[in-house]
Amino acid sequence: LRRLAEKLSKTREAFTYQLDRLFLGRKEIDAELFDDLEELLITADLGVTTTRELLDHARRKVHRKELSDPESLKLALKDKIKSFIIDYQRDAELVMPESGPFVIMVVGVNGVGKTTTIGKIAHKFVKAGRSVMLVAGDTFRAAAVSQLQIWGERNGVHVVARADRADPSSVVYDAMDIAKAKNYDVVLVDTAGRLHTQTNLMEELKKIKRVMGKRLEGAPHEVMLVIDATTGQNGISQAKLFHEAVGITGITLTKLDGTAKGGIVANICREMKTPIRFIGVGEKMEDLRDFDPDEFIEALFE
Ligand code: GDP
Repeated sequence: LRRLAEKLSKTREAFTYQLDRLFLGRKEIDAELFDDLEELLITADLGVTTTRELLDHARRKVHRKELSDPESLKLALKDKIKSFIIDYQRDAELVMPESGPFVIMVVGVNGVGKTTTIGKIAHKFVKAGRSVMLVAGDTFRAAAVSQLQIWGERNGVHVVARADRADPSSVVYDAMDIAKAKNYDVVLVDTAGRLHTQTNLMEELKKIKRVMGKRLEGAPHEVMLVIDATTGQNGISQAKLFHEAVGITGITLTKLDGTAKGGIVANICREMKTPIRFIGVGEKMEDLRDFDPDEFIEALFE
């Protein structure tokens, strides 16, 4: 737990400590305190709507005389932030199918850490004794294919890849057949994330998803969106786009180690109502944590 708190140190400095500082020596709840709070919450990337909801909740409590001093206001705010995170994260564990390959389609904008996350998830499953296969579904960028191959080598797992800008859905088509034939436990499918030609990208992803389901019943079992925590509110608008196209069932939030904007976690939970499966807290193979809301909140606040 202490290690997670260390990984979140930037957010703790910019948010938790500032929050404590803001309340230091205050005797009264006044308009100025609410203004300062609003600024702090938005800076920590809780987002305008989440911030407004939080402060309205607090104002109502003050109005009803349920909160009378700054200290109790601070506690009420922390509680509400906790509830945003916890309410949408119950039973959020990834559940593998009873038989046959567990297919995870991984989507997200280029640079968010998709390939790295796939490598880290593969590592987790390999360590747990599962057979894993990776699929290079981003045929658009040669670098993406070779990067995935490197992660495959590191993990000692098979990578299905084709060069020359092959049609990604045909790569996935073959991959599903291989997965069935070899009965892999876990199949992680990388996909393209080019932003400029978004419509094409979304059509491509829809097609990949369709092909998966046709070749392998129930696939994909998880459509995992990778979001870069440092991109803040942008990450949320991306999430909505991807969700509209392919229906996100889980989220991995990367780069929480390098950002002061960890407040985005509360915002993502509240806005997306989709479980966060993992958080990325570094570049190495082991730097992927199962997202445990209680542990996260403790590391952030205690
Ligand atoms: P992709 O384009 O989405 O596949 O992104 P990559 O997997 O290539 O990652 C982009 C960069 O982000 C790389 O330099 C990764 O090492 C880095 N990265 C990925 N996840 C994390 C993380 O959790 N923390 C940090 N600090 N860096 C990360």
